[in-house]
Amino acid sequence: MSILFTSKSDARLLLARVLEKSRREGACRVWFGHVRGDTSVPRIRFNGALLDARKAVWAATHLGVGVPNRVKVKNTCGNPLCVEPEHVTLPGIVEASEWAFTPVVCNKCNTRKVLLSVLAFQENPCPVCRGGILEPVEETRNL
Ligand SMILES: [Zn+2]
Ligand SMILES: [Zn+2]
Repeated sequence: MSILFTSKSDARLLLARVLEKSRREGACRVWFGHVRGDTSVPRIRFNGALLDARKAVWAATHLGVGVPNRVKVKNTCGNPLCVEPEHVTLPGIVEASEWAFTPVVCNKCNTRKVLLSVLAFQENPCPVCRGGILEPVEETRNL
């Protein structure tokens, strides 16, 4: 079985559920939901299936790209419980999803950054000035 998202609404629903079951710790989002057996592999139930939460996060932010079972997840931060989309990588899978990224700008210090779209529309504190909020740049492409 592979994990594949082809609809933005399903992808957003999945990501919203993952955000509910994780809390921000620094740059990470640490999973506190169900894990597989005695391992630290986050699992999430979605549309009747029990999925590897990190693969599901990746698939939801890369619409149309299927994630085969055999692919191993690698967290760039080293924490296997982290479900932060920007920290979940699947070496060997091509990353190619235009819609997934949105340019944002800090409302205080004007720092520019590119965030995953699903995150760009939440409240994101600016990592540079720490007092500002990163907001989607106005002339951004339609999602
Ligand atoms: Zn992380
Ligand atoms: Zn700032």
